[in-house]
Amino acid sequence: MSTHIRVNFECPCCGENFLPFDDSQRLCPKCGNVASEVIVPIAKIVSAAKENIAFGVFSILSLADMYIDNAIDIILFAGYPQRTSISQEEAELICHEVISGRDFSNSEHQRAHATAFVMAVLKEAFLKKA
Ligand SMILES: [Zn+2]
Repeated sequence: MSTHIRVNFECPCCGENFLPFDDSQRLCPKCGNVASEVIVPIAKIVSAAKENIAFGVFSILSLADMYIDNAIDIILFAGYPQRTSISQEEAELICHEVISGRDFSNSEHQRAHATAFVMAVLKEAFLKKA
């Protein structure tokens, strides 16, 4: 069975949809309002992503699922499951490739949040020992 996290979140000030996934990312990318808490921790997103990679099919049902779907792409792009650890330098290179391949033309304000997310996923999935 695929693993979903049925959580949606929007900034109470500006309505921007984003997911505070760790303490450094509680700031709304659009207006800078600080969310009161981490809504879904990165460890939960990455473990759901790995479960869904093993399962093979995934559909997006919520904002948190969008982050999971994104994490799946990032983890596969970095070579999982053949590769299970990468160096900090490789993580930075992979992050650069992922981010430079995205179009932020209508959402430049999301670039920093997206970059932090890619690095957090790579750290959680590959730099930590299981
Ligand atoms: Zn906001």
